[in-house]
Amino acid sequence: LKNQNPVISKPRYVRVNTLKMDVESAIQEIGKTNKVTKDDMVPDMLVLPSGVDLHDHPLVKNGSMFLQGKASSMVAVALSPKPGWKVLDGCAAPGNKTIHLAALMKGKGNIIACELHKERVKVLEDTIRRSGATNVDIVHGDFLDIDPKDPLFAKVRAILLDPSCSGSGISAKRLDHLLPSYSKGHDVDTATSQRVKKLAAFQRKALAHALSCRNSCRCRENIMSFLGHYAVPDVERLVYSTCSIYQTENEDVIKSVLPLARSLNFELATPFPQWPRRGLPVFEGSELVLRTDPTEDMEGFFIALFVRKKSTNSSGK
Ligand code: SAM
Repeated sequence: LKNQNPVISKPRYVRVNTLKMDVESAIQEIGKTNKVTKDDMVPDMLVLPSGVDLHDHPLVKNGSMFLQGKASSMVAVALSPKPGWKVLDGCAAPGNKTIHLAALMKGKGNIIACELHKERVKVLEDTIRRSGATNVDIVHGDFLDIDPKDPLFAKVRAILLDPSCSGSGISAKRLDHLLPSYSKGHDVDTATSQRVKKLAAFQRKALAHALSCRNSCRCRENIMSFLGHYAVPDVERLVYSTCSIYQTENEDVIKSVLPLARSLNFELATPFPQWPRRGLPVFEGSELVLRTDPTEDMEGFFIALFVRKKSTNSSGK
């Protein structure tokens, strides 16, 4: 018995889309058939008893509520964009975090949602349509090709980077469709480690690009960057997140960009300081980043928040 996992009943989470419905009305409606409480950490997140299935609920179908997990919902909250800001979502589809950003911004300001794959752009469009968000512009293209000198990206104040990852923090059952080779008897360890290394290479590149164009060589001058080009106080906050449990995709990626980030006046900040699970102790400051546990918290996410230090030549806008 000692080695067996106890059957722990996990709550269900649902995020109220405040672009369409207020939280109290949602509680009233859902409370007619289920016990429902508010989450104590993530705003607009409702907690329901284990086993409740809301997939076919009319409020889910009409986009008033989204079946987004708590850990996943912590990402946009960590970025905390203000209404009226311009925000760039670098790897956006299917768009759960894009529309969460839109709700946090109360539909005011502008979100640029970038997505590489055409098929996934359609899913992104559908998510945005269902959410009722009207302040999202989709860019179908490679985030690495985004040129911060393009007027479209002028005045971006916050960047959310949730790049493709191994998905190792999400239950294997839900990822079955993404991992066909594993179920055909391939060597899981070798395949996983090769795939993770490839993903981490992209993640490092994408995060470095979000911080600065210097290494991507797509800018005319080395100095041009999201941070440098637009000068203080434009890009102020940047969140990097994955749904992976691997150090390679998480702490190692952050550690590799820290010198660049520091050179651009960025420092790691602490999203959700009250949350106990922090980064693996593999670099100084790893306690600032956040992890969620795939078993305890239902999804294994990683969140790092960079905040640009106020500069003396800041106009303070
Ligand atoms: N943030 C999304 C959400 O919460 O719904 C999930 C993002 S998913 C983890 C990563 C997305 O990035 C995928 O849709 C993938 O197609 C896209 N992607 C991968 N490489 C990209 C690139 N170079 N530029 C833009 N998007 C990319």
